[in-house]
Amino acid sequence: MDILELRKQPHLSVSSINSYIDCSLMYKFSRIDNLKPDFVSDNLIFGSCIHRILAEFNQEKMMGNILSSDEIENMFKTDWEKSAKDNPDIQYSKGNTYRTLLNQGVKMLHEFMKRVPENDATIVAIEEPFVMNIEGLDIPLIGIMDLVEEDEDGTLTITDYKTSKRAMAISEVDSNFQLTVYYTAAKANGYADRDINLKFDCLIKTQKPKFEQIYTERSSTHSAKAIKKIKLVWDGIQKGVFIPNDTSWRCHGCSYKSYCDEWFQN
Ligand code: SF4
Repeated sequence: MDILELRKQPHLSVSSINSYIDCSLMYKFSRIDNLKPDFVSDNLIFGSCIHRILAEFNQEKMMGNILSSDEIENMFKTDWEKSAKDNPDIQYSKGNTYRTLLNQGVKMLHEFMKRVPENDATIVAIEEPFVMNIEGLDIPLIGIMDLVEEDEDGTLTITDYKTSKRAMAISEVDSNFQLTVYYTAAKANGYADRDINLKFDCLIKTQKPKFEQIYTERSSTHSAKAIKKIKLVWDGIQKGVFIPNDTSWRCHGCSYKSYCDEWFQN
């Protein structure tokens, strides 16, 4: 199953649902009107780059080859240069430049490498696309799980990688919608009888980068709440309910601000 093919069909995803909830007008600009954003954020490009390197690390690990820190560093440098060097679409956040993020990425990946190779769980899937069909909904929810591992007892651990400016609070992880969807999708797609652990592997962009693994759990109650929310979002989209959330923290740095200003004037 190819995620690019899946994305060509009408679908919902965790990011589209979060986008609709954060600001449904921004959702409309981006996903209904398909407007070109004013810019691409440095965090988006940087995060994608780190994800690709971690996926490559896991691919090699699955084949029994643990890449060295130097190899990971060189892969990141090449990928970052290709993605970001002389890219006029990127808007850097305050204090960030091509070079500061290059250095930061290298340090973050070295921090990651100090701990993760010791993990000896069996890798089941890397960057695994999934489709979740929801009863009563005429559109599927699709996504990609960064990493799925299995221990000796058959317990699955689903990992999502995060690059963030600060450490995540446990309460944030415990209520995170994305992990609830992953749990629900895994249960619906052949793993109903398995115990499932969920975790964020966080690479934190502090001055001295940190790597934290935060575990959490979900139950059928969490799934039921998430499904209700997904259905309500889809109902709002179908009915054309698109409301600007113009007091949101997202407005500062919104890549659809120029369209939003124009929308308000009209
Ligand atoms: S500027 Fe604010 S209100 Fe306007 S689209 Fe962006 S997030 Fe929504």
